[in-house]
Amino acid sequence: MLDFESFKKLLSSPKKIVITTHHKPDADALGSSLGMSNYLKKKGHEVTVITPSDYPSFLYWMKGNDDVVNFEKEDCQQQAIGLINAADMIICLDFSCLSRINELGALVKKADATKVNIDHHQDPEDFADFRYWSTDAAATCELVYDLIVKMDEKDLIDSDIADCLYSGIMTDTGGFKHPNTTKHVHMVTAELIGLGADNSKISRLIYDTNSVNRLKFIGFALTRRLVIHTDLHTAYFWISKRDLKKYDSQTGDTEGLVNYALSLDGIKIAAMFTERKDGVKISFRSIENVAVNKFAAKYFDGGGHRNAAGGKSMDSLKDTIERFEKLIKENQDRLLNQLELVNEKH
Ligand code: 5GP
Ligand code: MN
Repeated sequence: MLDFESFKKLLSSPKKIVITTHHKPDADALGSSLGMSNYLKKKGHEVTVITPSDYPSFLYWMKGNDDVVNFEKEDCQQQAIGLINAADMIICLDFSCLSRINELGALVKKADATKVNIDHHQDPEDFADFRYWSTDAAATCELVYDLIVKMDEKDLIDSDIADCLYSGIMTDTGGFKHPNTTKHVHMVTAELIGLGADNSKISRLIYDTNSVNRLKFIGFALTRRLVIHTDLHTAYFWISKRDLKKYDSQTGDTEGLVNYALSLDGIKIAAMFTERKDGVKISFRSIENVAVNKFAAKYFDGGGHRNAAGGKSMDSLKDTIERFEKLIKENQDRLLNQLELVNEKH
């Protein structure tokens, strides 16, 4: 393990750096990656951001977006492999286990580069030489800001970097609504606005930019794809491949949908099941002390935060939902009372 001073020293001379972040990057993943990348470029490093997949178009405005290498695109793969193998340092942002970057995980693992992990998720895997990690942070963007301040280089944060970092803090706190919205979060966002972040513009670009198809899709999902089990304090959406096709759904179009289920009076657990080409992607949300990350980890090969987690299933959409309902029934009291979850019977 490197200590902070050794990490700082490494960055005091020009390096070849690769930054990567999790599958289907959200505003915190992309904002921390581009914020960090723009900062390191200002320090004289050669930096490339590689993402394991595409991401929503409402993030394309961030500075450096045009140079992001999407590993999912066949014509980008050789370039990405070359960059990873030649890198002096690989910085992994907003994830703590290499499975979250798909095939990139194995490449990062075997690369000679110094590995850095900056993140706020629970239970980090042990793959990094330097870790800047805290589950107390609401967002990885908050940690990147703190790290730049610790490097004594706050003056390098310009308005573009401030915009990137502000975005991730805004979205990972649910627009400053979740319980992770601490005093420190407000202090950092105040600083970022002082450094030029355009908070109102960012909120409009991320939250208030819809296509007609997306609005119609939300209407359809609310009327036809929402299942409510009041007795189980649970509500969920199920979205099929056909639904996504019918509404010409783009990456990011399902973002936030699960929150409608959670907003129902009396509902404490919400989920969204989305049928994709590589299995069923699941989003879990909860309120109060209901730990959906433990539920996701135990039964759906996932994880995340207590009130916002995700997972996946290789069963059909129908079978996945049946299994979910059964597990929720069996664990109802355990989830509400923070008890150990039952072992699944096969
Ligand atoms: P979302 O539902 O927005 O995709 O994800 C919510 C949170 O759950 C994310 O911040 C992420 O930490 C976590 N998460 C989502 N999918 C997965 C997954 O497949 N594995 C793990 N370990 N965490 C996930
Ligand atoms: Mn995050």
